[in-house]
Amino acid sequence: MSAGVILVIEDEQSIANVVRIALERDGRRVICVRTGEEGLAELPRHRVDLVVLDIGLPGMDGLEVCRRIRADSSLPIIMLTARDEEADRVAGLELGADDYVPKPFSPRELAARVKAVLRRGTAAPRADELALAGVTLSRPRHEVHVGGRPIELTATEFELLAFFMENPGLLFSREVLLDRVWGLDYPGGTRTVDQHVAQVRAKLGRPELIETVRGAGYKAVRQ
Ligand code: CA
Repeated sequence: MSAGVILVIEDEQSIANVVRIALERDGRRVICVRTGEEGLAELPRHRVDLVVLDIGLPGMDGLEVCRRIRADSSLPIIMLTARDEEADRVAGLELGADDYVPKPFSPRELAARVKAVLRRGTAAPRADELALAGVTLSRPRHEVHVGGRPIELTATEFELLAFFMENPGLLFSREVLLDRVWGLDYPGGTRTVDQHVAQVRAKLGRPELIETVRGAGYKAVRQ
């Protein structure tokens, strides 16, 4: 089990470096970008576990980035704020940031906050019984029902559907889906993902359950 992929959105190189060193020491994979636009573009390309987000960014500011991430996911977000940005800090928490760390911060403090937020987020055990938009899935019985009617799925279709139902509202690229559902060493291409999504949609008769996001990938409805 990976110790987590952290996306750091911070325009100041020296601060980004401190964050990187602090988190890599804990065995985490760190991806650093310098603008909110880049950050939003990177998100669907990786299985990101947490975002460290600076408020003061060139272009789109951190609050707007937070708002956009929150529009379709509950991905943990820790905001970096300057000492005199109390109003921004409050706004960040109101927008759904999980925590904030005022600058200047010690690497140890940041690493501890990241650990605490991740622990909070992963406390819930993986559910065996999933329900989303009228579709129910039971892992132990390997059964899927739509409106009470049983649906026959292949093993891969079942895993793909379960993955979407476990992550409602989150956008995943085809590459990430291949990695998570088929496994890293699967030799096929991303077209496999499209075919299986189409099959799952057809069998469920609920095409709206898994939405195609043009140029980005797929996501399940939120509820
Ligand atoms: Ca900044």
